[in-house]
Amino acid sequence: MLMRIGGNDVEGVDSRWIDVKNPATGELIDKVPAGTDEDVSRAVDSAEAAFAAWAKKAMRDRGMILYHAAQKVRDQHKDLARLLTLEQGKPIRESIDEVRGYANILEFYAGISAHQQGEAIRLAHQGDCIVVHQPIGVCAAIIPWNMPVLIMGWKIGPALLAGNTMVLKPASSTPLTNLRLAQILEEAGLPAGVLNIVTGRGESAGEALVKHPAIRKISFTGDCTTGGKIRQIAGMHKKDVTLELGGSDPMIVMHDAAIDKAVEGALRGRFYNAGQTCTAVKRLYVHEKIATVFTQKLKERVDTLSVGNGLGSRIDMGPMISKEQREKILQAVEETRQKEEGTILSGGSTLKGSAYEQGYFYRPTLVSNVVPGARLVTNEIFGPVLPVMTVPDLDTAIREANTTQYGLGASVWTQDLATVKRVFDEVKAGIIWVNRHLTVPPEVPFGGVKASGNGRENGQHALDGYTQTRTLFLGW
Ligand code: NDP
Repeated sequence: MLMRIGGNDVEGVDSRWIDVKNPATGELIDKVPAGTDEDVSRAVDSAEAAFAAWAKKAMRDRGMILYHAAQKVRDQHKDLARLLTLEQGKPIRESIDEVRGYANILEFYAGISAHQQGEAIRLAHQGDCIVVHQPIGVCAAIIPWNMPVLIMGWKIGPALLAGNTMVLKPASSTPLTNLRLAQILEEAGLPAGVLNIVTGRGESAGEALVKHPAIRKISFTGDCTTGGKIRQIAGMHKKDVTLELGGSDPMIVMHDAAIDKAVEGALRGRFYNAGQTCTAVKRLYVHEKIATVFTQKLKERVDTLSVGNGLGSRIDMGPMISKEQREKILQAVEETRQKEEGTILSGGSTLKGSAYEQGYFYRPTLVSNVVPGARLVTNEIFGPVLPVMTVPDLDTAIREANTTQYGLGASVWTQDLATVKRVFDEVKAGIIWVNRHLTVPPEVPFGGVKASGNGRENGQHALDGYTQTRTLFLGW
């Protein structure tokens, strides 16, 4: 597929290409241009040219276009989900969820488009003020490969509704569904140039986009180190930035939890998307009174998970995105084994057999008794490995939950309100779930504290983040 700039499919300036491969089979699916500085400039020029007319449109008209695009996406959800599974690997059921989640986001922003108003402030003596929220200008979105469709929605929904135009750079391994979704937006009435997609590598197209002087706001999701670089560049050039970075979410299961429900929560929380989710359950702390029975039940469920090509029927977990990502997991588990930092209860290896040879599969892995300070609990483990630790009380669980640099999400599983209050007050995370994990609906603000980022996606908060507030002061 080609890049999408100014409403046209365009080739890259220097005619180099990036192969897009199926992570389940290693087969070439398609290729996209390796965008350069020049391609980024073309896309930004096109977004700048489209800005004035788009910003002038009534917000409710912008919302209607998002709504129509959502309906088209719903009509085509099977084809879109298949394309997503082909390039990303996740089971088709998860791809369908993700595509529908994208439609939900566009519909949410369409739904609030008629409510957006400024405010009037009547001052006692000096006069009156009218406060309006205006678009910022040309925004950049840089997105990762783990949830390319959902994360595209998180960024374009509020940005476009607010009246901004945008240049989006997909991950180089998963650009295809993003390109198709951009075409669908145009088919739904989005004017040419309002959303432009530049394919290419992070270090070239990505950096060029971040540095481009006409970009006023950057929204990035991905690795903490990349996010740090982007924050630095944005700071130097006085650009607004929203960063959704890594996480190492703890899940705390107290002795009064509904055990079976918590087991299912841990299973989905960790192994959904082969563990490659920013808010996945990455550390599990279980109260000692239920630890044995909980861990046994969890192991039984982990051992039932079927791994394979995401297009197959009854597949619970697909491959990892790439050889490099799988290598990181192999190394982390091998280190645990060699240093005797935990007991591997399930998995702990790749899969054997012809169905797995060319893909990047890894077995769902459960590790118990992981020692504090082990790599499995200090680093963000972006794959299907779940470390389980036993804790004697809530104090210990909260202390351990706060030991990493991350603060994206956390969950507590309990029936006790006082426990909920303590976890909410004391665990440092942007979102605390009670008796569930992972769910991020479009109306709920989402983002991290500490090293997990700044700014919020979703809800009114994200929309506000794509506007600048201006005041007209009327001195009567
Ligand atoms: P990156 O942060 O490198 O990639 C995310 C996006 O940023 C991609 O589009 C990438 O392009 C782009 N990018 C990379 N470098 C730059 C740069 N210097 N300037 C601008 N854009 C850039 O993550 P990875 O894909 O390398 O994954 C590495 C680790 O990050 C994972 O193991 C995981 O721990 C974490 N991660 C966290 C995610 C989250 O949701 N919190 C999502 C994905 C990864 P390109 O694809 O071409 O490299």
